[in-house]
Amino acid sequence: MGWEKLLGDCINFTQRLVQTPSMPHEEGTLAELVMAEMRRLGFDEVWADEMGNVNGRLFGQNRELPALVLNSHLDHVDPGDPALWPVPPFSGEIVDGRIVGRGAADIKGPLAVQVYSMAALLRMGERPYRDVVFSGVVQEEIGGAGAKFWVENLDYEVALVVLGEPSDNKLALGHRGIVQMWVRFDGRSAHASVPQKAQNPNYALAEFLARLQTAQSELSSHPHLGPTTVSPTIIEVDTKSPNVTPAWTRVLLDFRTASESTDSLQAFVHNLAGDWPHTIANAWTDAPFPASDEIIYGYYTPPESAVVQKAQALLAAGMGWEPALTSYQFATDGRHFVPYHIPIIGCSPAEEAQAHIAGESISIAKMADSLRGHVQLLRAF
Ligand SMILES: [Zn+2]
Repeated sequence: MGWEKLLGDCINFTQRLVQTPSMPHEEGTLAELVMAEMRRLGFDEVWADEMGNVNGRLFGQNRELPALVLNSHLDHVDPGDPALWPVPPFSGEIVDGRIVGRGAADIKGPLAVQVYSMAALLRMGERPYRDVVFSGVVQEEIGGAGAKFWVENLDYEVALVVLGEPSDNKLALGHRGIVQMWVRFDGRSAHASVPQKAQNPNYALAEFLARLQTAQSELSSHPHLGPTTVSPTIIEVDTKSPNVTPAWTRVLLDFRTASESTDSLQAFVHNLAGDWPHTIANAWTDAPFPASDEIIYGYYTPPESAVVQKAQALLAAGMGWEPALTSYQFATDGRHFVPYHIPIIGCSPAEEAQAHIAGESISIAKMADSLRGHVQLLRAF
């Protein structure tokens, strides 16, 4: 089999994927394109589910073993102002050895590598060691309803999920979890002309935020996933009237953690808020957090685990060098598989810094390396 031809076809597929916009809830046309490609390439089974997720399976030599799953999402974020792009965002043009376009790195180039690594085995007249399933899921960029549906309805065993999220040909072992909380400060509302009659909670919020900026360095760190971080994002008050002091004001805190629990984070916030009357609520449910000292991970697959050791060795054999171990800054659909105890790794030719930016692109040379690595993974994992 010619690697040049394989890479050429993979690039062409990536360009067609980029040229087919697929915002969340609008993945249908792209889903058809991916299914048609898998059928044309001779996959043993190709199907969609009622969420709009698409799947393609190659039968392995050992069909009774749990499957290897290659996961990518079908959607992408908005391209924003096209004037900020060097080429039109849905052109898929090649510039300096890179395919440019919205979704090229996150995640259509990696998706194409996953599908074409499966096609490569068919072209070589080989079978993977175990069943391999490509899983293309919808709505990753808006919470992951597609991935949740996929995992809830799984009717086969899974040995490992490989995420196509950008890892620069390294092995990403995990990412931090997300905790988002509202911190609300209560005061007393008054006419803005008589501030002495009010207890204006905006002052409490200002003090709180100033303390937060300093104190966040005290949050603990995970040896592989890095420090726990916090970002204040949305701020709201109860009133829309410019001449009324608010009765309450609240800020949304976005924590990323692999070393803290909801209990420890709440204690951290209470300490910073001091004596001012305040309450904490889960931003996703608007209810108080149940007491829990369980550490909040996104996911984390230990480097010494058998799946990591094996995947790393096979990727090294395929690519010609050993992929370094890393972790993601952002969150992925992998977090939805954690409750099901499915091992997860990230492995992708795209670079994390390319995700969601104007001028997003992926290196063709890195796609070529990734293809070779994936083919070896499929052969022997
Ligand atoms: Zn992504």
